[in-house]
Amino acid sequence: MTYDDQNIFARILRNELPAIKVYEDEYVLAFMDIMPQADGHTLVIPKTPAVTLLDLPPDAAAYTIQIVQKIAKAIEKALGAEGIVLMQLSGTAAGQTVPHVHFHLIPSSVHELGKHAAQLGDQEKIKTLAEKIKAAL
Ligand code: 5GP
Repeated sequence: MTYDDQNIFARILRNELPAIKVYEDEYVLAFMDIMPQADGHTLVIPKTPAVTLLDLPPDAAAYTIQIVQKIAKAIEKALGAEGIVLMQLSGTAAGQTVPHVHFHLIPSSVHELGKHAAQLGDQEKIKTLAEKIKAAL
């Protein structure tokens, strides 16, 4: 699938747009979702330009999952989450809205999740949650 390098997450990766980051290395970035479906909703993205998981080279996918696991453990520890929904939407037909592959980590239950949150979360509260997650890494 053709990759649009002006998509929001590509711009966050280039630091053209702000994000509340919890982890970054050479290959992956983790940051807080701006419209969280639950407290602690975090996104993990590979730096590799790929629209969906199906476009992502297997080695990049494998490394990204290692970081997903690392962030999930930090969320569990920092927020006392008893369960974390790991969600990955590939394709607009599946509901994907940002065309750069991303994994949602949502400390919640699948039974509590509905459609996307439609409004911005409280950014100060999100910053506080991000600090707790970072401290638990
Ligand atoms: P998707 O539907 O593509 O799986 O999810 C995209 C997610 O990105 C949504 O949960 C949405 O709240 C989040 N999002 C959209 N724009 C931004 C943004 O500019 N910054 C951040 N941090 N999250 C965003």
